[in-house]
Amino acid sequence: MKYIGAHVSSSGGVDKAVSRAFQITGTAFSFFTHNQRTWHAAALHPQSIENFKKNCIKYNFQPHQILPHGSYLINLGHPVDHLLTKSRMSFRDEINRCSQLGLMFLNFHPGSHLHMISEKTCLNRISDSINLVLKNTDNVIAVIENTAGQGTNVGYCFEHLSHIINKINDHSRIGICLDTCHLFAAGYDLRTEEDCENTFKKFDNIIGFKYLKGLHLNDSKKEFKSRVDRHENLGIGKIGTSAFKWIIQNKIFYDIPMILETKNSKIWEDEIFWLRSQK
Ligand SMILES: [Zn+2]
Ligand SMILES: [Zn+2]
Repeated sequence: MKYIGAHVSSSGGVDKAVSRAFQITGTAFSFFTHNQRTWHAAALHPQSIENFKKNCIKYNFQPHQILPHGSYLINLGHPVDHLLTKSRMSFRDEINRCSQLGLMFLNFHPGSHLHMISEKTCLNRISDSINLVLKNTDNVIAVIENTAGQGTNVGYCFEHLSHIINKINDHSRIGICLDTCHLFAAGYDLRTEEDCENTFKKFDNIIGFKYLKGLHLNDSKKEFKSRVDRHENLGIGKIGTSAFKWIIQNKIFYDIPMILETKNSKIWEDEIFWLRSQK
């Protein structure tokens, strides 16, 4: 099955995200389990958890179709110890929220070195953070997203992601989400079918498709290798339509959530329709 949807708002309660995903004809979705710009999230209300689960049944979403996104404030590779601890606590809280909602994934950006430590030290810190949190939580798979390499973000190349994965103790609880805009901005070309084949072959060789738990389908407002993370609606950015057509026609991407985080949310329904029509 192809699971296609978007990153929908959870304002008014997490259960609202489910109905919003359904309204735009999504068969997958992403959302924040709390306001992602604040550190301290109130615990999920039991009623809210129940409504979320009810809505998932009502609108036919199963856990493997849902890819919640972690807060952008979390930096699991933070160079400063007490801030690293803060990030780890917040990450653990997010994993627990996903678990309470009956979900199986948490997607997050790996972290930033902030010019204070080397990339390698930062990557090691991220692996340690993930190991620590996985040890203290149950079930949920930590899904690392590739980055555009903006600022001091690590995780912009497959070698970084594989470095993190190699140090993880429980490989059944680690995965990858690839964002097409980030790939392109980081220097993995997708403009032609051949580019797509090469990029995903590299991914398979260095990391392996078995770790791929989701995709973010975004065009890029900025140039190839710009290292700038600016999403654009499909087909009107620098990547163009061919990549999305290639992805949607490729069976290797069946059964994982494919999530739009494109700029103009008003046309998500049209984008989903367009993607589904690429047979
Ligand atoms: Zn993304
Ligand atoms: Zn992005």
